[in-house]
Amino acid sequence: MLRISSTTPPLSDDSTETFRLVKGWLQECIGHVGCSQTSSGTKKLPDENAQLPSRVLRVSSRDGGASLSVRLVETNGDRGRYCALSHCWGPPDKQPLRTLKENITKHITTGIAWASLPKSFQDAAILAYGIGIEYLWIDSLCIIQDDHQDWAREAPTMGELYHHASLVIAAAGARNSAEGVFVTNRPATAVLKLPWIRDGAVIGSFHLTGLSGDRQGPSYSILRTRAWVFQEWRLARRLIFFMPGGISWNCRSREYDERGCRVDLGLMDDFSWEAFLTEYTATQITYPSDRLITVQGIVNDMRPTRDADCKYGVWDDDIARQLLWVPADVLVEDMADLPSWSWASTQGKKYWAMESSENETSATFLSTLEMTESGAIEAGGCLLKKAKTCKDPDEALFLEDLLDNPDSGLDDLDRVLADCDEASWFLGRSECQLLLDFEDEKTIVGIARFDNEDDYVLPVHCLSLVEVCLQMDEER
Ligand SMILES: [Zn+2]
Repeated sequence: MLRISSTTPPLSDDSTETFRLVKGWLQECIGHVGCSQTSSGTKKLPDENAQLPSRVLRVSSRDGGASLSVRLVETNGDRGRYCALSHCWGPPDKQPLRTLKENITKHITTGIAWASLPKSFQDAAILAYGIGIEYLWIDSLCIIQDDHQDWAREAPTMGELYHHASLVIAAAGARNSAEGVFVTNRPATAVLKLPWIRDGAVIGSFHLTGLSGDRQGPSYSILRTRAWVFQEWRLARRLIFFMPGGISWNCRSREYDERGCRVDLGLMDDFSWEAFLTEYTATQITYPSDRLITVQGIVNDMRPTRDADCKYGVWDDDIARQLLWVPADVLVEDMADLPSWSWASTQGKKYWAMESSENETSATFLSTLEMTESGAIEAGGCLLKKAKTCKDPDEALFLEDLLDNPDSGLDDLDRVLADCDEASWFLGRSECQLLLDFEDEKTIVGIARFDNEDDYVLPVHCLSLVEVCLQMDEER
């Protein structure tokens, strides 16, 4: 397959051609209107005078430009351009070099020995320096890793930090920091430079190159399976990806491969919260307690336009739809402190089956749910303090089974429904949400999504809200 392009790809990642290519993309992007504003389109984003993170690495040359040196710097509110690294930490035995209480003074005063930097950090420093950006932010070196207070202060600002970076460097082809940013292994490709002729005169040139078969995009990279990466990539204004198949560029206005061709990197155009979570919940996270913090930057970014609050990972303007998540795999309950109705309380991929609510009755119903400060859901005047979710998709109930089971208490659905507060709990068969007890299969106690078609019964993925039933009974 042949491709016509305006530029030739660089022969290696660590080369002046690469730096020139990246600088050219950066320069072009600074002129993009869509890339110079916040996502709500109101504020002009800083570039030259971006607020620097609390600490950054200063990359400078030494020995007359023969080598680079890296020093940790406390910025004290200074401004300037910086790059940020998006990378995989890897398994415990491959953890990157870190700044700790015991070595921070050394990192600041004498700097960090070049040879002690893992290859990904060296490569990121080479790239930042090569494109003329003095500062580089790398999480493991710029946050004191054994200082909980420092981490708690820095972690919530991380989304903003990636957003304000002049460029985010994604080491998308590396499983850990030892493997390097520069991983491109380009097969030697014949590039033909041909004249561009118009009206008999040569007015320029173009290139003809063969396309390699192995050109998987960054959305297929191992880095994409890391939970933190979602906000790093989502909030970055400009990303440069290094993959074995080559370099690619992403900003809010353009996506290019290294040949200068427009590409679609497939970085999720659909950005409903539910679509995001469907992808996000499939990722791996080292510390389950980070699960909500890793999306805090995205929440902060969405909040002004959404004009709602997000608690426990659930937006309070659309509670019911977000509660109706469905496990795609067996879930592991690893965050007992969180309400069990929150997707963040369990590890495991989930999806949100109910995409939209076109039904007006449904909308009325959905509005009866509210979230209290304590994390309880208030529905139709009842407090739903506890919730149980279906943990295993194979154990999901089927409405049909419930109706056929004489012990289910649902043999006479109309009667059961008549016992409920219809205004609150029942919307009709097409998109009904009932409260069912998942354990005894008898009592209506939760929200559930049922079959859409009479002849096709979907599993009842039930968010059973145990206490509502008790409370409703008490009230009766
Ligand atoms: Zn741009």
